[in-house]
Amino acid sequence: MTPAQRVDALVIGSGPNGLAAAIRLARAGRDVVVLEAQPQLGGAVISQELTQPGFVADTFSAVYPAAAASPVFARMPLADHGLDWVHPEVAMAHPMPDGRAGALYRELDRTVANLDDLHPGDGRAWERFAAPYLDNFEALRATVLGGFPPVVGGARLVAAMGLQGTLEFARLLLTSADQLADDLFEGAHARAWLFGSVLHGDIPAEESGSAIAGGYLQLLGHAAGWPSPRGGAGALTGALASYLGSLGGSVQVGQRVQRIVVARGRVAGVVTEDGERFRAPTVIATTSPHALLRLVGDAMPADYVRRLQRFRYGPRTVKVDWALDGPTPWTAPEARQAGTVHVGGEADAVTAQTTAVRRGEIPERPFLLFGQQSIADPSRAPAGKHTAWAYTRVPGAVAGPDAVMAHVERMTDQIERFAPGFRDLVLSRHVQGPDTLQAQNANLVGGDVGGGTYRLDQTVFRPLPSLLPYATPIDGLWIGSSSAFPGGAVHGVPGWTAASYALARSRLPL
Ligand SMILES: Cc1cc2nc3c(=O)[nH]c(=O)nc-3n(C[C@H](O)[C@H](O)[C@H](O)COP(=O)(O)OP(=O)(O)OC[C@H]3O[C@@H](n4cnc5c(N)ncnc54)[C@H](O)[C@@H]3O)c2cc1C
Repeated sequence: MTPAQRVDALVIGSGPNGLAAAIRLARAGRDVVVLEAQPQLGGAVISQELTQPGFVADTFSAVYPAAAASPVFARMPLADHGLDWVHPEVAMAHPMPDGRAGALYRELDRTVANLDDLHPGDGRAWERFAAPYLDNFEALRATVLGGFPPVVGGARLVAAMGLQGTLEFARLLLTSADQLADDLFEGAHARAWLFGSVLHGDIPAEESGSAIAGGYLQLLGHAAGWPSPRGGAGALTGALASYLGSLGGSVQVGQRVQRIVVARGRVAGVVTEDGERFRAPTVIATTSPHALLRLVGDAMPADYVRRLQRFRYGPRTVKVDWALDGPTPWTAPEARQAGTVHVGGEADAVTAQTTAVRRGEIPERPFLLFGQQSIADPSRAPAGKHTAWAYTRVPGAVAGPDAVMAHVERMTDQIERFAPGFRDLVLSRHVQGPDTLQAQNANLVGGDVGGGTYRLDQTVFRPLPSLLPYATPIDGLWIGSSSAFPGGAVHGVPGWTAASYALARSRLPL
């Protein structure tokens, strides 16, 4: 048997949360190793030539408002390590069947003008809603993108926005997107424009907690933009790994952790699939909750097992990348300049998608999150050519290759409705169904992109009700994936926060 390697801390998983956790530990002087099951680092933030040579596809995630706004990444010199954010002219466009589109610009006044043009008054209403949050954005992001419990951010919010403003924000957290749209808009375009962003999460627009999902993403559009890394998503995790390396930390790929070793109630290290042993007094697992339980096995107290097993995952996903002979020919001009396009049309049609998936029915007209990174970043494709990326939520019935491919046809038909001629531009495509996604990254349970559903209870208490949700009953073992507060999207907050608590607990200088 090979002797065990000894380090101060181990991190399981090299996605944005694993890398953020490792950086936090390395910055505090800890000798840290990240173990990654896949042959490449980066988790759900990597790029590859999936379709054909010369076309850079983002294998999973692609557009990063939360990363651009992340207080965690803001503490890191990522530009020095190769990260260059590309901001498209339009952050997001939501085309409608009449050939027009609601648009989200970084500039609030351009957004207001677009929405007012679509229905007089809707732009001004958005401005009245958004301006106080944008004026106090630092306090808002400290609340939403701080760790749990959000006490420090909450106090900053009260100081910045006053009690009344904070109570209005609390209402926004609890209300539905339906209600927010009723409060603000009279026209159909602005309503659909809001609902498209709601569907980045998985809460239906009529449910509590959906308003903030859409509203916050739109606010991020103004405060930070919806950028992508130049050259591909992998440039972001590449920069994180490079910075980690400069601090003395390292990532070992092809190392699937098979067991977390516990001795006398304390974590002692891990064993990999290949039988390699690592010893460390601190382990941060950026896995799914159920995977964490499997890795620990019988050593985990039964009460914690029972409570963590209640954790629920979100819907399955089908994702497609295309190599195109030219730009996607959207009818709406705003969509031609947008990095992200929400494809689904009217608000009712968009919500019908969530309802159908909930009921286990296959939506005939799926709602798509569509990215076209090559519009603003020519390095993604050969001259004159373009890339497209899209995903959609699907019910359990979309299982097996035939059902997945039939759904890809529905997705393509949906694009064709708003961009006639799209099909003719397709040079090649690459499809990932729910099972493929999970095989490529164990955290994508059943093809869930969110690391767990965002239903309101599980957004607040994530992964379970606790004042310190990153802690486990095993001393020295922490959970820091997107299944911990504040959840999915690329911002590194759960990983960073779990590592911060681990350092505080270890009673060594922070
Ligand atoms: C198709 C898709 C599209 C998305 N689009 C966006 C988007 O546009 N913008 C956005 O902000 N977010 C998006 N997301 C969500 C975002 O990618 C995730 O929220 C984020 O990557 C979560 O980070 P993480 O570090 O917690 O986990 P991950 O990035 O999933 O990384 C977890 C890592 O842990 C590794 N691992 C798991 N188990 C083990 C083990 N036993 N041993 C060793 N390694 C292990 C995995 O291999 C993986 O590399 C998308 C996700 C998907 C799947």
